[in-house]
Amino acid sequence: MTSTNGHNAGSQAPVENVIIIGSGPAGFTAGLYAARANLSPLLITGNDYGGQVSITYDIENYPGFPESLSGPELVEKFKAQAEKFGTRVEFDYVKEIVVDQHPFLVRTESGAEYRTRTIIVSTGARPRYLEVPGEKEFTGKGVSYCATCDGFFFRGKDVLVVGGGDSAAEEALFLTRYASRVRILHRRDKLRASKILQDRVFTNEKIEVLWNTVVTEIVGKNGAVTGVKTQDTVTGEEGFLTTDGVFIFVGHLPNNELFPGKLELDEDGHLITDRKYRTNVPGIFAAGEIQDKVFKQVATSVGQGCGAAMSATRFLEELEAGHAIDWSADPREFALPRVGALA
Ligand SMILES: Cc1cc2nc3c(=O)[nH]c(=O)nc-3n(C[C@H](O)[C@H](O)[C@H](O)COP(=O)(O)OP(=O)(O)OC[C@H]3O[C@@H](n4cnc5c(N)ncnc54)[C@H](O)[C@@H]3O)c2cc1C
Repeated sequence: MTSTNGHNAGSQAPVENVIIIGSGPAGFTAGLYAARANLSPLLITGNDYGGQVSITYDIENYPGFPESLSGPELVEKFKAQAEKFGTRVEFDYVKEIVVDQHPFLVRTESGAEYRTRTIIVSTGARPRYLEVPGEKEFTGKGVSYCATCDGFFFRGKDVLVVGGGDSAAEEALFLTRYASRVRILHRRDKLRASKILQDRVFTNEKIEVLWNTVVTEIVGKNGAVTGVKTQDTVTGEEGFLTTDGVFIFVGHLPNNELFPGKLELDEDGHLITDRKYRTNVPGIFAAGEIQDKVFKQVATSVGQGCGAAMSATRFLEELEAGHAIDWSADPREFALPRVGALA
């Protein structure tokens, strides 16, 4: 079978220096740095071209753009800059990686098979959605999945936070910097968040918790959220809450389907990397939200993509210099404690 990019599946395709999996901020930045190191990287976009940024209405916290810009505009700038220096962008989806041989193999949905000396994984993550009517329609117009990104727009306003874990508690506390009132809607009768976060939530005068409550619909007018329909999980009673914004924190899912049994994942499904963005397999690096569950920002993902590309470049230099690589040894170094205050 011949794929769109001309490689015969199963044939001995030329060996790539770097294959980057994913076209979010981490992937395009890795492409930019690898291209400027003359590595002619190949970037495979995945089905969500541009990643989470492409569904972001306005980005106001990415440095260099004081007048802000839309997510899709930023994606085009990332792509143009990466391509300018020689990144090749393939619109395809990786369905399998083979990591127990070198060069590694990367197989895609279109039937292409690539051989590559290094891989940079930047497959990112996605928020878990509530999947209620109105959620999609009002995303970026009052519905948000990121308080750090959007809290600023709710100065002096009323907001709801949906969820009961650490993220919901942390983000609710963050939102009290701006909002006049923050109500947490939780489907159970107790929070799952850590004790210390719960104490902070319960003693914050701006926060109120509504127990046993789920959102059944998000409603709005003139392109802005005005309220949510609710249901009591115990009595079944229906209700309505007026609000200006709905922040949803019911889970964050790393796009990790390619990696179980091949690369080491933590208990939440993120790749475990060291400070040089190395995974447990020599020559495979990871950047962005697939390995970062703490910061989850465009700016941090960009920085991590840069770091991963620099590490891949060093690795290729070692290979070229003929230095022996111990393929069976985990290359990561965890000199610092792996669990810190922020983890
Ligand atoms: C609604 C929303 C608003 C946000 N607003 C802001 C904001 O204002 N400011 C801010 O700093 N951050 C914001 N964020 C967070 C920010 O978008 C993310 O932190 C950032 O996009 C993560 O970048 P990433 O490169 O790690 O991954 P992602 O952006 O998640 O991209 C992952 C990429 O991997 C690809 N992929 C996945 N699996 C495969 C596969 N098997 N084969 C090939 N490709 C694959 C996908 O197609 C995608 O292109 C927002 C997030 C959301 C959801």
